[in-house]
Amino acid sequence: MIGANKATAETGCLYLVATPIGNLEDITLRALRVLKEVDLVACEDTRQTQKLLNHYGIRKRLVSYHEHNELTRAPEVVIELEQGARAALVSDAGTPVISDPGHRLVTLCLRHHIPVVPIPGPSALVAALAASGMPTEEFLFVGFLPARSGERRRALVDLAAEPRTLIFYEAPHRLEDTLKDALETLGPRPAVIAREVTKVHEEFIRGTLGELLERVRRKPPRGEMTLLIGPGSGTQPAATQVSLAARVAQIMREQNVDRKAALKQAARERGLPRREAYKQLLDDRS
Ligand code: SAM
Repeated sequence: MIGANKATAETGCLYLVATPIGNLEDITLRALRVLKEVDLVACEDTRQTQKLLNHYGIRKRLVSYHEHNELTRAPEVVIELEQGARAALVSDAGTPVISDPGHRLVTLCLRHHIPVVPIPGPSALVAALAASGMPTEEFLFVGFLPARSGERRRALVDLAAEPRTLIFYEAPHRLEDTLKDALETLGPRPAVIAREVTKVHEEFIRGTLGELLERVRRKPPRGEMTLLIGPGSGTQPAATQVSLAARVAQIMREQNVDRKAALKQAARERGLPRREAYKQLLDDRS
């Protein structure tokens, strides 16, 4: 029997196997043993997983399992598990199920009383946080922010009062916009871009959100990145931590613009449609 679990000859078992986030040496002995011993490997991208298995001389039946087929693929895998198969679930990199496909398969297995066994290993958020220098006692992993600016700003506004370190996954082409939105909604907090962690060009770029934004505009970073934002100092409140009416007045004063222009900017900062911002302004005053 592989691993410490309750799998028997009759029931199969699902192993959630963490794989490297860049450096192929970052795989545990247990992960390699499980990958060698299972009957099949469900993976996000069969070509990517084939490369990993080739590297370790493992030959295995691969089944594709990704966000576009999990609705039908999850029950198919569960049928095999019910017949006694042992399967590993892996993603392209890091820990499966964490901002990656697999949750549906896990819950379906649990519903069918099939053991689900984690085989822990790399995860970008933990590696990035550990070396970031940000407070680690408490943190909030947010995953990917919405791609649309309005929704992203609203999500950030909801996090403005959060006193814990925030961790986000982000695509390189969205990093500049996210930093801009974060600066405007959260204020000038300390932040870290953890780039290409465990890879040849690994880099930790540290500074305030404003400094990072300037740096990214000057030299857009490439590759995989995790963004960490520290708690605010409390001395400089973010634009979104004051009432909308106060913010509109502040913009009018500081930028010498009329109320309409100020309201437009304040609405954008908070990811609010202008009509909604106008309504809030009236509410704030009443
Ligand atoms: N499940 C994976 C894990 O546990 O790390 C995360 C999968 S998520 C789809 C991929 C995101 O993780 C990337 O867009 C990036 O934000 C982050 N990431 C992955 N590898 C990374 C690396 N080597 N350095 C920094 N961030 C990385």
